[in-house]
Amino acid sequence: MMTDHKEDTSEKRSLNFIEAIVEEDLRQGRDDGKVHTRFPPEPNGYLHIGHAKAICLDFGIAENYKGKCNLRFDDTNPTKEDVEYVDSIKEDIKWLGFDWEEREYYASDYFGQLFDFAVDLIKRGLAYVDDQSSEEMASQKGTPTEPGKHSPFRERSVEENLNLFQRMNAGEFPEGSRVLRAKIDMASPNMHMRDPVIYRILFHPHHRTGDAWKVYPMYDFAHGQSDYFEGVTHSLCTLEFEVHRPLYDWLVEQLMTDNYRPRQTEFNRLNLSYTVLSKRLLLELVEKGHVKGWDDPRMPTLTGLRRRGYTPESIRNFNDSIGYTKVMANNDVSLLEYAVREDLNKKAPRVMGVLNPLKLIITNYPEDKTEEMETINNPEDESMGSRTIPFSREIYIEKEDFMEEPPKKFFRLGPGREVRLKSAYIIKCDDYRKDEDGNVVEVYCTYDEATRSGGPEANRKVKGTLHWVSAKHAIEAEVRLFDRLFSDPEPAGHKDKSPIDFLNPDSLKVITGYVEPSLNNASLLDQFQFQRLGYFNVDPDTTPDHLVFNRTVPLRDNWAKKS
Ligand code: ATP
Ligand code: MG
Repeated sequence: MMTDHKEDTSEKRSLNFIEAIVEEDLRQGRDDGKVHTRFPPEPNGYLHIGHAKAICLDFGIAENYKGKCNLRFDDTNPTKEDVEYVDSIKEDIKWLGFDWEEREYYASDYFGQLFDFAVDLIKRGLAYVDDQSSEEMASQKGTPTEPGKHSPFRERSVEENLNLFQRMNAGEFPEGSRVLRAKIDMASPNMHMRDPVIYRILFHPHHRTGDAWKVYPMYDFAHGQSDYFEGVTHSLCTLEFEVHRPLYDWLVEQLMTDNYRPRQTEFNRLNLSYTVLSKRLLLELVEKGHVKGWDDPRMPTLTGLRRRGYTPESIRNFNDSIGYTKVMANNDVSLLEYAVREDLNKKAPRVMGVLNPLKLIITNYPEDKTEEMETINNPEDESMGSRTIPFSREIYIEKEDFMEEPPKKFFRLGPGREVRLKSAYIIKCDDYRKDEDGNVVEVYCTYDEATRSGGPEANRKVKGTLHWVSAKHAIEAEVRLFDRLFSDPEPAGHKDKSPIDFLNPDSLKVITGYVEPSLNNASLLDQFQFQRLGYFNVDPDTTPDHLVFNRTVPLRDNWAKKS
């Protein structure tokens, strides 16, 4: 379904460390040459660009090595999870171009098996019910250099543990009053091995299992076991889970009945400058109204990026370019912007739009005449063909393209100067008019018939080429220009401040622009390059008589120039 880009890129770079591990496993004939991965989102928020990094790896590895990738919802915490999130997660993964086929799983599907496994651990003397509060348990945990203390409930009999665990699940005890812990080693140098909690009591109904369960497995107790139940071979996750790996292995070890075991490998998570990628913070932005919703084009969510005009290919190419390592890194958000520019440069037709209009009158052009000027849709791709745009006596150009007293290096319009109007004529500026405040409001020019695009003098040398729209043919459009949502490169990197303190008050600017009439036929989310201005797409807020555009990115990296 999406092999094209893989063939493009895999040739160019060497294997990342995970691909190297997989290839070595295949060489050794591990797991009968099977490669099986999974992407395990918790349905407690929308996916963001960081999740895309994990998705591209999980599905990408499966695809490259003729394996399979499961979609598994890690739905072990009913208090935060919702079907709204399940649906959006599926939509976003499909949009990125990946397919889990019929393998859509839920950790909650395994609640029965997991409960049985917990009972089995109790019977083998490897788990016990602890009646202490979480504070008491924390106070016994010790430190990495100091062993913890045994819980007074650690030596409970198997019968009592079984009885209590069943009654915990029958709803006999209040939330927080008891937990089930694995009995491992309170002196382990790894804190996660110090009798971790594996089950807790929750009375909140679950979005799939309703009120069938009163006890819920902790993430660590569900994850590796779910991998095991599904036959996952390579369980890829982010670096913060490295310290959980001994527990993952210990639990799988207790569960194993043959030689098969899933193995966890950790890679560096994505951090992006000027961006926050914590679901909690993204939720706060939405709930407090700092943005208009999960799909606000300023959000780093996949639904926000899609609305902003990012393509699936640009996101995959970005992930490919930053790669997968064991080293924590902060990636520059401009790399992501570069990736979408690269992709849209090939795909987006060039059109004319003027964002900050200045009226220009061609005084020697007949008043009632209109010419259809032919222009090609994309010089990068001839197969995209051409179209015509209407030209007439009065046009709009960009205010910034005219100066009363231009310096030498200004290659645009000024009194006495000549420029080319893209796909039309060469014009010369004779005069201009100002309002009482001294603002230039009209520019007067003359055109030379022989310089018509394709005509005998079309190639005459002039210093600049301007974009334009015919005033009487242009359509008014609402244009949304975005700046970064945060004004600090590391909004989440300040000890005593919240990222909210660094919100950029100017992250959204709404203006009225004028676009060529062909854009009346554009469909929602269609993408264009407005000549010289950037890449834009049609926002879903568009109605039959109100066009709305989002600027995905400016043509060049303006931010780099600013700093
Ligand atoms: P939470 O804090 O709610 O657990 P999460 O971002 O870890 O948030 P999950 O739904 O658990 O959300 O993530 C699903 C998968 O995506 C996990 O395997 C996780 O490692 C991976 N992932 C999450 N954030 C990033 C990131 N910034 N870069 C790479 N992978 C990520
Ligand atoms: Mg997580």
